[in-house]
Amino acid sequence: MEYVITPPPVPTLPVEGTEARFPVHRIYCVGRNYAEHAREMGHDPTREPPFFFLKPADAIVTDGADFPYPPLSKDVHHEMELVVAIGKGGANIPVEKALEHVYGYAVGLDMTRRDLQGEAKKLGRPWDTGKGFDASAPCSSVAPASKIGHPSKGAIWLKVNGETRQSSDLSQLIWNIPETIAYLSTLFTLAPGDLIFSGTPAGVAAVKKGDVLEGRVEGVGTIKFKVV
Ligand code: MN
Repeated sequence: MEYVITPPPVPTLPVEGTEARFPVHRIYCVGRNYAEHAREMGHDPTREPPFFFLKPADAIVTDGADFPYPPLSKDVHHEMELVVAIGKGGANIPVEKALEHVYGYAVGLDMTRRDLQGEAKKLGRPWDTGKGFDASAPCSSVAPASKIGHPSKGAIWLKVNGETRQSSDLSQLIWNIPETIAYLSTLFTLAPGDLIFSGTPAGVAAVKKGDVLEGRVEGVGTIKFKVV
């Protein structure tokens, strides 16, 4: 194949226990999937159908690389999340079969320009500038489900400069992982390489240059990086 311009590189994540990497296709994110976070954002955490937004695949920052503070915002928030890495695609996936589509799990941050997102909400505009900016998806290596299984409970936390900012448990997800995959696959045909950021617990707050963020999901992995 000849291209008229150089094709962009495929964004990838490291995989635990191998030199081979996980190629990223799309990044889906779930909104308001922990009740306490829905409340802190001023919403009633009823079990309404989940909603989704996307980030570009090349928003991935991995291998411990720095997170560059993005332009045109004075209020960039951290959102610590469990990330699902899809290994087998499909549409209209039943809940009972959903986990068969998972290659593994990672931990990531849905970094958010909260001021731009808030303005978009107020004006009824899309969230892309608030959510889908460059480097908005720091992510750890992927732990294969063949090694760690499919976590449905376990601590999820984020520390900023050593102080705990977010702390919850995967069991507090409003829509659990199989339900999220099943629902998402009615809206989009999932493909190998898709990532699903599954939502953040309460405690989202602003970061500033120089901050060191360290997050963990028990049984899955750790992420650590610096805001520059
Ligand atoms: Mn989020």
